[in-house]
Amino acid sequence: MSVDVDGPQADVLRQSRELLDRVVTPNAGAWDRAQEMDEKVAGLLGAQGLLVPSLPEQAGGRGFDADRLGRFNEQAGRACGSVRNLIGVQGMVAHALHRWAKPPVRDRWVPRLAAGDVYGSFALTEPHSGSDARAAATVAERRGGAVVLNGEKSWISFAARAGVFLVFARLDGHVAAIVVERDTPGVHVTPQVDLLGLRASHLAAVRFDDCVVPAEHVVAQGPLAFDAVATAALDHGRFSTAWGSVGLAAACLDAALDRAVTRQQFGAPIGDHQLVARMVTRMVCAVDAARMQCEAATRARSSGDRDAVRRTLIAKYVASENAFAVASDAVQVHGAYGCSAQSSVERHLRDAKIQCVIEGTSQIQETQISQLTLTSWRAAQRRSEALGPSDNGR
Ligand SMILES: Cc1cc2nc3c(=O)[nH]c(=O)nc-3n(C[C@H](O)[C@H](O)[C@H](O)COP(=O)(O)OP(=O)(O)OC[C@H]3O[C@@H](n4cnc5c(N)ncnc54)[C@H](O)[C@@H]3O)c2cc1C
Repeated sequence: MSVDVDGPQADVLRQSRELLDRVVTPNAGAWDRAQEMDEKVAGLLGAQGLLVPSLPEQAGGRGFDADRLGRFNEQAGRACGSVRNLIGVQGMVAHALHRWAKPPVRDRWVPRLAAGDVYGSFALTEPHSGSDARAAATVAERRGGAVVLNGEKSWISFAARAGVFLVFARLDGHVAAIVVERDTPGVHVTPQVDLLGLRASHLAAVRFDDCVVPAEHVVAQGPLAFDAVATAALDHGRFSTAWGSVGLAAACLDAALDRAVTRQQFGAPIGDHQLVARMVTRMVCAVDAARMQCEAATRARSSGDRDAVRRTLIAKYVASENAFAVASDAVQVHGAYGCSAQSSVERHLRDAKIQCVIEGTSQIQETQISQLTLTSWRAAQRRSEALGPSDNGR
């Protein structure tokens, strides 16, 4: 049930799996309990170009295509949800700055983000605006050659450690994406601990009190800020979360299969009892279905298909919900042991629930998938009406 590493991508994926197996998997449980990830992880991944592997090599990445990026996130999700989250968030910030930031800002931060010398945070959510992200109340005002930020962000991954924040704030009446450096006067970071899952993700609330940043830190403003910068970053994050959820579910399935053949009750391996066998079947089908949706999203992204965003929403929705169901069954198969921190499935179950909340909740995915599907259905109908009756009926 391991990640397929045959084909031309074999070497680099074997290398990344070796790193994750050696550095991450054995420590994921301890980091979860301590609510702290080893500081060296970002640097170790960065040194191999694996922290933001889809950046070009000259920018500190590995030039991963969608397929490699997906498979790598699957490996990371299998090893540790918080490390997968780190790869996802660091990629969201680094790609946004690489593509849209002004050259001095881009050149100052992208190489350091890729190398893991600095953590980046994607700061969109606020105490009073989560799913309705456009309602964010953080404001930025122009003052001379600078902008001044006031407001508060909440539940921001890696903000407790971040050296740079990509902040979404209202500027001149429109949403703007603004780079704020951690040591800017007026930035106050308050760690948010004791979460259900992804507990080694160093969440924090970030308050901006008359925080002055140079105007060149405005990465984008107006429709570009939300419809391009935030949307592309969230799309990247959803792709990472989707494949990471496949990895998490696959790890749970492996653990459950092992338990099903080794644990004996009523004189037989528990997997031989029909109701446990049904859970095994459910898990196998859910993992396969999630992987197929991720592969469909990957194909759409690789071919530049206009449907890629919708395909990625579907992949994230199916994979995260399936991961939660699989992790729940895996805990059930393990019985009391599965309810304890000695087992990895207990952590995976808590982490899986978070996958259904981040990068847009499952309800928001459901809304967006239906909206995009209905829009393309109506467009197809209009096109077919414009073409008139087809020859097929002759
Ligand atoms: C571990 C973790 C890491 C995170 N990291 C980041 C980060 O790095 N950066 C960042 O900006 N944010 C981050 N978040 C925040 C996350 O993006 C939000 O929690 C998420 O967008 C949901 O917002 P909310 O929590 O305010 O819930 P709400 O928006 O208040 O939603 C509550 C419930 O109502 C439902 N709901 C809301 N509106 C609708 C609707 N129109 N139709 C149907 N149902 C609806 C939701 O689906 C949900 O079930 C993180 C959260 C967690 C838990």
